[in-house]
Amino acid sequence: MQIVHGKSGWLEVICGPMFSGKSEELIKRIRRAQIARRRVQIFKHGIDARYDATSIVSHSQQSLPGVAVTNAQEILNLVDDRTELVAIDEGQFFGEEIVDVVNKLANLGKRVVIAGLDLDYRGLPFGPMPQLMCRAEYVTKQLAICMTCGDPANFTQRLTRDTAQVVVGATETYEARCRCHFEPPVEDRVAGKANGA
Ligand code: ADP
Ligand code: ZN
Repeated sequence: MQIVHGKSGWLEVICGPMFSGKSEELIKRIRRAQIARRRVQIFKHGIDARYDATSIVSHSQQSLPGVAVTNAQEILNLVDDRTELVAIDEGQFFGEEIVDVVNKLANLGKRVVIAGLDLDYRGLPFGPMPQLMCRAEYVTKQLAICMTCGDPANFTQRLTRDTAQVVVGATETYEARCRCHFEPPVEDRVAGKANGA
């Protein structure tokens, strides 16, 4: 993605299912900003302590140290005036207030990059992601590989029968699936809500 640099800030969203390379892409953009000697602050939602309490870690074991926060206001309080890039991982776990927070930061002239799942395990829009996507100047939608057929995968299949929207896990709990092989929870299929219908 080519970004034309100017004085105004902007918002970038990186979205897609689990295993689609969102964290890898976020890490790549942060590393390139660091090479350009930009001042960077990295945040992630504290709910996901899968690999590390604070670092952003991809499924391919790349990582960068960050700060874990549990609400969006904390980000606003922690961002330094001189920071040029604010990177946020696991955006879907924040409440709607993240939308105002990233807007404020972009309006202050900062580049804000936020990565997150756009669909939950039911195939429905996840938390603030739709609001973030429509306000962003740049949206990158990533796809994973379907673990059943090898086609591009837009869905995150939960392999357990938990019904909470947030169940933290990796390959033992979730896998990427295409539209054809994604199986929404039984309750949704009965109610005719499969694939976000
Ligand atoms: P995300 O943040 O979207 O969950 P990550 O950046 O953490 O994704 O991990 C992406 C990496 O996961 C890929 O580069 C690949 O090594 C690995 N991977 C494991 N399963 C899959 C899959 N089904 N499709 C694509 N990549 C996968
Ligand atoms: Zn498939």
